Amino acid sequence: MPTVRNLRGLAVFLLLPILMAAFCYYTLSHLSASSPIRNRNIVLLIAHPDDEAMFFSPTIQSLVTPSLKNTVRIICFSTGNAEGIGNIRETELLSSASLLGIPNVNNSVIIHDDPNIQDSMTKSWPEDLLASLISDSLREFREDDSSNGGDGKGVDTFITFDEGGVSAHPNHISLLKGVKYYLRHYPKKNDVLLYTLNTVPVYRKYISVLDAFVTTLLDRMKNKPGEEEEGYSGTGAPKSAMYLSNWQGYKTAQKAMTEGHKSQMVWFRWGWITLSRYMVFNDLVLDTDLS
Ligand SMILES: [Zn+2]
Repeated sequence: MPTVRNLRGLAVFLLLPILMAAFCYYTLSHLSASSPIRNRNIVLLIAHPDDEAMFFSPTIQSLVTPSLKNTVRIICFSTGNAEGIGNIRETELLSSASLLGIPNVNNSVIIHDDPNIQDSMTKSWPEDLLASLISDSLREFREDDSSNGGDGKGVDTFITFDEGGVSAHPNHISLLKGVKYYLRHYPKKNDVLLYTLNTVPVYRKYISVLDAFVTTLLDRMKNKPGEEEEGYSGTGAPKSAMYLSNWQGYKTAQKAMTEGHKSQMVWFRWGWITLSRYMVFNDLVLDTDLS
């Protein structure tokens, strides 16, 4: 004779797959409706070799999709030389970027090694110097473009960390200040877009793909009906973008670490590449406040 408790257990057991399917459908349908960044000349600003793989893999892999007609490049502001292996890490960044789908990495990735901007867990980097390095790098990209018969339209989109820097790393946080300094002080760049990677609380960092669901729900709750449909700023740019990798993309992100950044694969990184939401899901927000 089944007890009430058994029947309840059975009901939950049967409902669970239905709820999971509803969850997947809801998340995926919302993500497919989100506004992808396309036809843009994009530069990803990172602080250390491996930031691109550990934090931005879903974004990079999606943006390099040929049908989106984006150009994706990387500026890395240090060689990650805190342990004296900066030269190894430079090579690893090129290898990782290539695995993530960035073409022609020797010209698409610039790595700086300025004595005043070195890998450090305790130091913030001077924003004016970062802005100057951004300017130098963009010139280099433009020259490379024109020598290869490109359209020469120049970089029109930056992507970097937000004010939380994912891990509150002062080097990560400095990049946002540096790019805003650049946008405020360098020749008028009104049409340049700045997207930042959302930093989530620690209890959401290690729930992998489930955080795509959490983010989607929170996004729905935050946006009033009607507003959400817009999804675009006054300039016609998407206000946000979400990138959820499929299984293949998730494995590629892991490969960018295990095969690309071999020197960084200490034991605790296995936890990150297995469980972190950033390895499988990114949500970017358009930042229009340049103060
Ligand atoms: Zn970093």
